[in-house]
Amino acid sequence: MSIYLLLGTNIGNLTENLKTARFLIQNEHTFITQQSKEYATKPWGVLDQPDFLNQVIDITTNFSAFELLDFTQKIEQEMGRIKLRKWGERIIDIDILAFDNQIIDTEILTLPHLLAHTRDFTLIPWAEIAPDFIHSRENKTIANLLAELKNQ
Ligand code: AMP
Repeated sequence: MSIYLLLGTNIGNLTENLKTARFLIQNEHTFITQQSKEYATKPWGVLDQPDFLNQVIDITTNFSAFELLDFTQKIEQEMGRIKLRKWGERIIDIDILAFDNQIIDTEILTLPHLLAHTRDFTLIPWAEIAPDFIHSRENKTIANLLAELKNQ
C-alpha cells in the first residue's frame, strides 16, 4: 500500500508530539512502514507563530480513506489539539497526503491532499521516502513535483 500521512506540530515538545502521534497511529488497523526524518520548517500562511516540525510517514491499514480520516481526527482530538486559527499553531496536525491512487473530492476529504504538491515542507519529507510514488492528480512523481517546485 502507498498511504502517506503528513504530521506537523509547533506547540510544546515537538519531537515528543511526533512520537506520541506515531505511537497512537499504530494499532490493530494501522502500521507504520516507513518514516522520513523530522524537518524543522517555517510556518506557512500565518507567519507570526513558532516553527513547525514535520514528518511524512507511510502506513498500511485496513481502514478505508474515510475511516482513516476519522481515525486521524480522533488522534488530533486526543492529543488535545485546540484550533486557534486557520493555518495557526497546533499540537498535532495529521493530513492524509495520498491513499494509493484514489482521487476523492468531497467536503470532508480531498485526495490526494489539495495543497500538498505545492508546499516544500510536504514534498521534501515525502520525496525522501517515496520519490517514485505517482501523484494521481498531477500524474507526476513526488521527486518531479519537488524538482518543479525548486525551479519556480
Ligand atoms: P486542517 O486541520 O486545517 O488541516 O483541516 C482539516 C480539515 O480538512 C478537516 O475538516 C478535514 O475534513 C479536511 N480535509 C480534507 N481533505 C483532507 C485530507 N486529505 N487530510 C486531512 N484533512 C482533510
